[in-house]
Amino acid sequence: MNSLKSWPCAALADADLSGRTTIRVGGKTQWLLEPATPEELRKAIVAARGEGFEPRILGGGANLIVADGVLPGVVITTDRMQRVFRPGEAVSSEESLRDLAPDTRMAPESRDADARLVAWAGISMPRIVSMTQRLGWAGVEGLVGVPGNVGGGIAMNAGGRWGEMWEIVERVLVVDERGEFVELPRAECRPSYRNGNLGRAIVASAVLRFRPDKTPAVVERCRDYLSQKKRAQPVTEKSAGCIWKNPDPQKSGGRSAGKLVEDCGGKARSRGDAVVSPLHGNFVVNRGKATAVDVLALIEEVHDLVAQKTGIDLEREVKVWCA
Ligand SMILES: Cc1cc2nc3c(=O)[nH]c(=O)nc-3n(C[C@H](O)[C@H](O)[C@H](O)COP(=O)(O)OP(=O)(O)OC[C@H]3O[C@@H](n4cnc5c(N)ncnc54)[C@H](O)[C@@H]3O)c2cc1C
Repeated sequence: MNSLKSWPCAALADADLSGRTTIRVGGKTQWLLEPATPEELRKAIVAARGEGFEPRILGGGANLIVADGVLPGVVITTDRMQRVFRPGEAVSSEESLRDLAPDTRMAPESRDADARLVAWAGISMPRIVSMTQRLGWAGVEGLVGVPGNVGGGIAMNAGGRWGEMWEIVERVLVVDERGEFVELPRAECRPSYRNGNLGRAIVASAVLRFRPDKTPAVVERCRDYLSQKKRAQPVTEKSAGCIWKNPDPQKSGGRSAGKLVEDCGGKARSRGDAVVSPLHGNFVVNRGKATAVDVLALIEEVHDLVAQKTGIDLEREVKVWCA
């Protein structure tokens, strides 16, 4: 029985997931585990596997559609892993990320020659962006307006035309398939377009490296990119970000997934309260009480429309969790 299980961290039985995603659709999970530290995360992963469940990892839920109903098994949210701090004074290239305790918590106003932050997986990317603006550190402006957490950003290699997450990753601490911590330097990783390529490894924390700059310059770039993003994407509506990856430009004649949807007449198609955004063909927005069934049916309809009209099989970027 759900209520009798004991987990190595805070846990909720039959927990709603729709409110934990930005598109606000979907059902519940049998178990939601809420570790507050990297070590609790590791123990939660081991415990879930010990019960025969491969846990699903939930960050900010900003690129995720959860099916309606109840997902059996375990979801682990990183939302309580909210620490960000500067590496200690004695940091060297040989330092271990595991040994970096968050007792050197950063003062956001301070700034020094070592333009790095240690971020636990659950810190939100908008918080990193605003922190680096205050510090006058460059490198992450391209992710302004991108919701979600550091762990999700690394797993997805979030980004766009102004830069990608892995450009600021120095190394990550992951929990591997054996349930052990492993530190991966950037040079050992092979992130690609919208994919951190970490396989089943789960991000616990990361060292992020920035470039010292001046606050007004960083703020100005963020303002510029954000205003362009707001003009092009439905950032104030409930969505799951881009549904599809942009296809090979050689096959699409240089057209993005959103442009293909638009050219094929897919914009503003709807199912219930799920609507293809009139602003951007690669976004499905929830205009009220859309269900996951509505959203997924609409995605399939538009995918098939583009395939019929162009022969292009759009590959999904958004993650879908089904029972
Ligand atoms: C309005 C809007 C605008 C957006 N704009 C952009 C954009 O410009 N560029 C872009 O790339 N994305 C964009 N997105 C999508 C989304 O913001 C990014 O993909 C983001 O990085 C997802 O992070 P998350 O923490 O929300 O991950 P989630 O949605 O929670 O999870 C996504 C995937 O990452 C995995 N994951 C999460 N945390 C971890 C972890 N700690 N370790 C291992 N795997 C993990 C999950 O299991 C899942 O498979 C946008 C979304 C919205 C709603």
